[in-house]
Amino acid sequence: MLRSHYSNETISANIGDEVELCGWVDARRDHGGIVFFDLRDREGLIQVVADPSVGELELVKDIRLEYCLRIIGKIENRPQGTLNEELPTGKIEVHAKSVEVLNASDPLPFQLDKADNVDEQIRYQYRYLDLRRPRIQRNLRIRATVNGAIRKSFTEQGFTEVETPLLIASTPEGARDFVVPSRLSPGKFYALPQSPQLFKQLLMVGGIDKYFQIAKCLRDEDLRADRQFEFTQLDMEMSFASQADVLDSVTAVLENVAAQVAPDVERSFETMTWFDAMDRYGIDKPDLRFDTPLIECTQIFNETEFRAFQAESIKALCVQTQGDISRSKLDEMTEKSKKLGAGGLVWMRVTDEGVDSPVAKFLTDDEISELKNVTQAKTGDLLLLVASDWHTTCDVLGTLRNDLLRPPVSNPPLKFLWVTDFPLFEGLNDQGKPVPAHHPFTMPHPDDREKVEQLSEQIKLGQELDEVFVRSIRSQSYDAVLNGWELGSGSVRIHRADIQCHIFDILGISQAEQNSRFGFLLDAFRFGAPPHAGYAFGIDRLVAILAGEDNIREVSAYPKTQTGQDPLSKAPSSIDEAQLAELGLNIRPEVLAQDQQD
Ligand code: ASP
Repeated sequence: MLRSHYSNETISANIGDEVELCGWVDARRDHGGIVFFDLRDREGLIQVVADPSVGELELVKDIRLEYCLRIIGKIENRPQGTLNEELPTGKIEVHAKSVEVLNASDPLPFQLDKADNVDEQIRYQYRYLDLRRPRIQRNLRIRATVNGAIRKSFTEQGFTEVETPLLIASTPEGARDFVVPSRLSPGKFYALPQSPQLFKQLLMVGGIDKYFQIAKCLRDEDLRADRQFEFTQLDMEMSFASQADVLDSVTAVLENVAAQVAPDVERSFETMTWFDAMDRYGIDKPDLRFDTPLIECTQIFNETEFRAFQAESIKALCVQTQGDISRSKLDEMTEKSKKLGAGGLVWMRVTDEGVDSPVAKFLTDDEISELKNVTQAKTGDLLLLVASDWHTTCDVLGTLRNDLLRPPVSNPPLKFLWVTDFPLFEGLNDQGKPVPAHHPFTMPHPDDREKVEQLSEQIKLGQELDEVFVRSIRSQSYDAVLNGWELGSGSVRIHRADIQCHIFDILGISQAEQNSRFGFLLDAFRFGAPPHAGYAFGIDRLVAILAGEDNIREVSAYPKTQTGQDPLSKAPSSIDEAQLAELGLNIRPEVLAQDQQD
């Protein structure tokens, strides 16, 4: 190695020791002919002092930011009055005997210590410079620690790490596939895996028994703070296992990871059904760092004269001390409530005299006093009420609750939550057919099998389906949530071909499609497939929260921009005519024309 010590290791060396250090010039100062600079390596900074009047050190006069250097020098105490308490190496400095320029650097396109304010297009174009920043260095090391802890924990539990293929036929996870054209079979395409779902189920049929993988998954959907085209999932599956076994196993892994990466941050694990999560917090991924539940008020208005409150479900949110919220903010929230399907939003500012609200005149004194009683609202608080069907009421207030009260996702503590018993179907599509809430391989809840039969009958008879009934059928699926971010989903799987076909029928997947897309799975189920269950969580999301980042792009070495571009390698890019021909492809003329315009 060209170095004897990393910067931080100089602290434990002796004064007067000779050290060899390598790194980059982080800052540079000239003081009366003497040149001071901070040398940065992956562990931190150390101050180097060089006197250019000493023959071979003359070159330090020309050293600029981000020059890559090798220094040989002696560790000395910094003179009194020049200590830097903020730097771990702030009491010492290295007096250079030799300075070797391993490589010079052009002036940087942006200042590294100001990179947070630089446009992502530029930052990602020069991501290798961005990576030099302590923040990103730290994040990538946290990520490596998380991956290591996950591997160790699953291996200790007897899981086998297995890699599944990247070039596959489509796996339905509800997003669009990325596709790869085949050269040997022109006109045919592989899909890149949205997840290893079917392959891991087949590993169970293959007797692997307990599988895990740190798997790259690709989904062509709009990018957000918690979403990239490519992401990494911890994917696992277990045979002869129940939901409780999966939850125990994954909880142990998450616990180990958190204990290793963020030992001092308070953490807790809870479990709650989907219905309770929706009913209490209005969302299937509640952030339990703040409680403020939705308060059931339907009974209070049982006999109300106020038309808007003659609804299936009325709930309130009591936002403490926010009674002075501006009128424009209230109007904004009302608009949002309407967009989400509610007739409107009722707001009340709680005052010493009663309530200040445009609807107060339509309510009786008893109704208002019972409302204050049930919500425990005090002077200065804001009450928000929605009256609609249960689903909409929950959804609207759950959204407003998050908007008003939710702290940044990475703020401590760590509140892990398992949400269980998700609906089997999220609703009906445009053609009135049920849409799976998770994926079509999820086992219905044992207590709702009769409902599944009823639904199947209705479909066979060609009856119009009732969305409320369809949504009321539960499944054996579960999500883990951390600080209001969905970490991932899993389920007990269907392991019998007859049940799987039955669910495909309900979803309106024709016999022909069942055979062409899932024939291999159905075949496998006919060879003694064991019962199995599994789960997957997003490592990017977990690492982001543990690293104190609110955007997963900060914990990925090479993220894409919000529009899915990689400004560094310029992907996606065109390919030449010869390559297209080899793949049997033509670009449509209107796309070519657009491309030329751009
Ligand atoms: N394949 C699922 C997903 O990616 C996870 C699972 O069911 O195990 O969400």
